[in-house]
Order: sequence, then C-alpha cells, then structure tokens
Amino acid sequence: MSLTIENLHASVEGAPILKGLNLEIPAGEVHAIMGPNGSGKSTLSKIIAGHDDYELTDGRVLLDGVDVSGLEVDERSRAGIFLAFQYPAEVPGVSNANFLRAALQARLPDGEEIDAVAFYKDMYAKMDELEMNRKFTSRAVNEGFSGGEKKRNEILQMMMLDPRYCLLDETDSGLDIDALKVVAKGVNSMRSANRGFLVITHYQRLLDYIKPDHVHVMADGQIVKSGGAELALELEESGYDFLKTA
Ligand code: ADP
Ligand code: MG
Repeated sequence: MSLTIENLHASVEGAPILKGLNLEIPAGEVHAIMGPNGSGKSTLSKIIAGHDDYELTDGRVLLDGVDVSGLEVDERSRAGIFLAFQYPAEVPGVSNANFLRAALQARLPDGEEIDAVAFYKDMYAKMDELEMNRKFTSRAVNEGFSGGEKKRNEILQMMMLDPRYCLLDETDSGLDIDALKVVAKGVNSMRSANRGFLVITHYQRLLDYIKPDHVHVMADGQIVKSGGAELALELEESGYDFLKTA
C-alpha cells in the first residue's frame, strides 16, 4: 500500500512547474520534503489533492495502486487523500462544526445519517488534544483566525477525516514552539501502519518532533536528493548551496 507519484509533470497557467517527479510513500512512513521557495512543493501537494488550478500534463498519482489522477478533488478526499494547506482558506458563513459534519456526512452511504452526539464527542476530544478552545466550534471556518489557529484547525480537520494519506504543506510556519508541539502531537497520534504522511517544511525544527523516515530535497520541479532524517540536519547546516554547484 502506498501513495505513488510517477513521472509527474504539471503546469500552472501554462508554465511548467513539476518536471518529472517520482516519489513513493508507503503506508506507515513519514516523508519530508524540503527545498527552496518556488521549487514546486505546494504545487506537488495540490496536484496530488486534485486542485483545479494545477494541470497535470504527464505522469500519474496512484493511491494503493489505483490511478486517481483523473478524479475530482472531493473524490480524492473520499478516497483518503487529505491536504493541510500552506495558506488555509477562510469560509465565511460556515461554522467549523457544520463544515466538519458535512465533510463526514459526505463520506457515509446514501440515506445514512451522522450520529450528532458521537460527532460532537469526537470533535471535542480532538479539540482538547489540540488545545483548541470550544469557541472555535461555532466560528466560521478560519475566518479571522490567526495564522497559528488556522494551522491547528487544519490538523483538527485531518484528525476528524481520518485520511489514508496526509499531505501537510508548511503546517509549521506561523506556529510558536508550543503550538508546534501540539500540532506534532496530533500528527504523531495519527501515525500508523495504515497511514502515510508527506510533510513539507522549511525547518528542521518540525522534524525534531515529527521524525521522518525519509527526507527529500526538491528543486526546480524535481526531487534532487533523498536521504534519512539526517539529511534535514545537513540542510540546516549547509543550506541549499549544493544545488548551485550541482
Ligand atoms: P514552493 O511551495 O516550493 O515554494 P510553489 O509550488 O508554491 O513552490 O510554486 C512553484 C512555482 O509555481 C512558483 O514560481 C510560483 O510562482 C508558481 N505558481 C504556483 N502557484 C501558482 C498559481 N496559482 N498561479 C501562478 N503561478 C503559480
Ligand atoms: Mg509552498
């Protein structure tokens, strides 16, 4: 079982961004992606999730061997792909609780109704784990949330939706150290043999708390270097200068 990216080429507004990217994330593993700004990390996460603005021009995304490249974003979500955005959108007029409830309801077979009591119990337990105040239940999704509150809310969504493959795009940016620990705790509580993670980050710091099995460096739309957790430490030391001489 794995999330497999094969020879991925993708464009945004006609400009090629991903240029033949290969990556396999077996269930049970955490893979980190680092790399300079503009190298295509967010584009990769959005192409996997099925974002409309990003055009897949060649290659495939396989979820446990099934090609999901042609599926709509909601179909991919229900198939088990989750993306925590680098810049989470605000959804005015839709409360956080209703948003989560609708997303979970959409996963049930036709005619089956979500159990409201169990839903609230589960949501409150997860909010407690993330040290989120209950007032966030009734507030509109991300509206007026601070950067850190938005990132915590992304993790709450992830924990509620229980996805098979989790993509986290710079979830650590904008977090203070306490929030970072809480978010890492949430992610670590979800690590299991049945679930894979792709964690995009600029900072080794996050990887102190979420230990990756593999670290990849992305540059100009490709993975140019892969290694173990120690690679993130090397990058922290030496930066991306090696890319210029390569
Ligand atoms: P990273 O996440 O590694 O910083 P991105 O994937 O966000 O990189 O961006 C890669 C390149 O694609 C950049 O040059 C960026 O300007 C461009 N790009 C990304 N999204 C869009 C978009 N929606 N419209 C136009 N250009 C975009
Ligand atoms: Mg990005």
